[in-house]
Parts: sequence; C-alpha cells; structure tokens
Amino acid sequence: MEKKDYYDILGIDHSATKDDIKKAYRKLALKYHPDKNKEKGAEEKFKEISEAYAVLYDDEKRKMYDQYGHAGIDQQYSTEDIFRTTDFGDIFRGMGFDFNDIFEQFFGRRGGYTNRPRATRGSDIRYDIQISLEDAYKGVDRELEVPRTELCETCKGTGARPGSSPKRCPTCGGTGQMQVSRRTAFGMFTQISECSKCHGQGTTIENPCPSCRGRGSTQKTRKIEVHIPKGIDEGAHLRLAGQGEHPQGATQSGDLYVVIHMKQHPIFERRGTDLYRKYTITFPQAALGTIIQVDSLQGKEKLKIPEGTENSTLFKLKGSGMPRIQGLGYGDLYVLIQVTTPKKLSKRARLLLEEVQRELDYSGETYK
Ligand SMILES: [Zn+2]
Ligand SMILES: [Zn+2]
Repeated sequence: MEKKDYYDILGIDHSATKDDIKKAYRKLALKYHPDKNKEKGAEEKFKEISEAYAVLYDDEKRKMYDQYGHAGIDQQYSTEDIFRTTDFGDIFRGMGFDFNDIFEQFFGRRGGYTNRPRATRGSDIRYDIQISLEDAYKGVDRELEVPRTELCETCKGTGARPGSSPKRCPTCGGTGQMQVSRRTAFGMFTQISECSKCHGQGTTIENPCPSCRGRGSTQKTRKIEVHIPKGIDEGAHLRLAGQGEHPQGATQSGDLYVVIHMKQHPIFERRGTDLYRKYTITFPQAALGTIIQVDSLQGKEKLKIPEGTENSTLFKLKGSGMPRIQGLGYGDLYVLIQVTTPKKLSKRARLLLEEVQRELDYSGETYK
C-alpha cells in the first residue's frame, strides 16, 4: 500500500510552521486518541498522524522528507525509531494523556522518554564512506570491514567455558547489588551499590571461556555488504538494522549507520538532482552556431549551440542529471558555455580575422 503524504495526513501545506504542525496534530490527536475514540481504525489513524507529526516537527527529518519523500525517512528510521526520538511528552501532558501508554500499545513495550535506561541494546556504529558521483548515479554495492563487539560464539555470551556455567555470586547472593547502611548527621542511610565481586552481574565464572577469557564478548571485524541506492547524496544515512555492537549482557544488537560522503568530481558540480558543467567553444563556433558533443553521466549527448551564442549562456539537457531517490525520473544537466579567445594566431588566421573585423566595421556590427 502506498504511504500517504505526511502533510496531507495532518491537513497542512508545505509552508506550515512548527506551530501550525503542533496545532494540526493536537487537533487530530484529540479526535483519534485511542482513549477517546473507540471506532475501528482509530488507533491506526492515531499512529499515522503521530508519525507524520514526529517527522515534520523535527527539522532534520522534515528536511530529509521534503528532499527524498518516504524513501528518505524509511531508509534511516524504523517507525519505532521515529517515535523513540520524538518527545511527545510535552504535547501529551497538555492533553492529559501519557505518551508511554501509547508507545507500549504501538510497540509492545515502553519507550520514549522514560527514566529507565535502555541497557539491553548494543551501541550503534557509525561508518563514514566516500563515494564517487558515478556510484551515486548508478547505485553501488559496497563491502565494508566493520570492527565490532559481538557475543562470543564459543560460550554464547555466558563467559563460562563450554560445559560449565556461571555460578551465583557468593558475595551478593545473585542480586548483583550490595547494601551498605551508613549513619550520617541526617540519620541512617542505606546505600545500594553494584556488587564489587561480580560487577552487578549476579554471577561469577570459575571456569572462564578460553575464547573470550570470560568476558562473554569478542572483537571481530566483519565484512558487511551494503547497497547504496542510486540518487543518494552527501550526508545520507543508511541504516543496517542489527549490524551494530552486541556486547555481553545486551539482548539485542545495535544498528550500523553508513554515512555517505560525496567525492568531488573533476567535471560535474551537483546541486540536488541537477548537475552543472562547463564547456568551452571558440568564438567562430559561438558566432556561427554548432552542435557539440557533451559528456554527461549517461554518455555522450548532442547539444545544439545556436548562432550568436553569448559567453556564459546556460543550456539545459533535460533529464541528464542525477536520478531522484524516490525512483521518479532524473534531474537536469546544465551546460555553461565559455567562449575562448585564441591566444596564438597563425598568419593566415590573423588575416582572416582582420578581414572579419573590417566586414563588421563596414556593416555596423562592431560592438559599441
Ligand atoms: Zn566466550
Ligand atoms: Zn556479586
């Protein structure tokens, strides 16, 4: 099913300010909030407007969406990410709803801005790569060598030698915590701290795994394939879910973000989906008109230069620019014509030019 336009979902136009977006969302949220609206489809609708709000209210995501549409957002964020990185707390407090209830309803667990640390997920890895304009034009597959922390394959993360298992920590009795009571000027305080023997794990290892020496995780460099879609531009993030770090104790891997940087091209300058290049012709060509062969990223293309073309005229080759990332067509190639003046004239060329100049003087065509 085709995803609806975020602006349409909120019923606002593209020039909407952050205030407009907030207002539009608040109005719709009051109508479709699952606590208020028990009609079929209301929850889906609520999720849809919340997603549109989350993207459009965030400057960076909105920019990405305006430029690349849904493809730009979906490539970088899961729906869950979109919700997790948005602070709904503020807007919902004003309406008397709790965002975390909603989040749980959508995704089956708590998220958003809670006090609980999300300790069960490994860190994300950022990997910056440089690609050529040609690669961005056609799309390319790259193999990355990514050093990362993984669960130890030998012990499956327990840290214990295969055949043995971690034992309950005798110091803390398996709770991972130690309680110390202190008497202070203000009375008795019970301080809870991490167990110093097991470092909060609740278990100790008598027989450490030989591969990871009891750590439960190892450092590995993995070859990871990434497809870089055509039309990609500077600063784009590609998200490879679950390809990030997976340290011991985590139940889930982090993600790998591949950040795209564009190499300078010797001929083409890119502005969005349009390309610009220079092309030099002689002044007789400019005066008489000609057909030139211009190198574009598609190959050679013919461009008609009409007679009497001025220096710095810009011609457009429609559809010869960069592909749009949504897969709909191409930008254009602009060719800036530069007329050169010959520096070393042969005797014959000099005579001919003098002849031309006399003719121009005679016919009154001399530049004023
Ligand atoms: Zn191990
Ligand atoms: Zn302990």
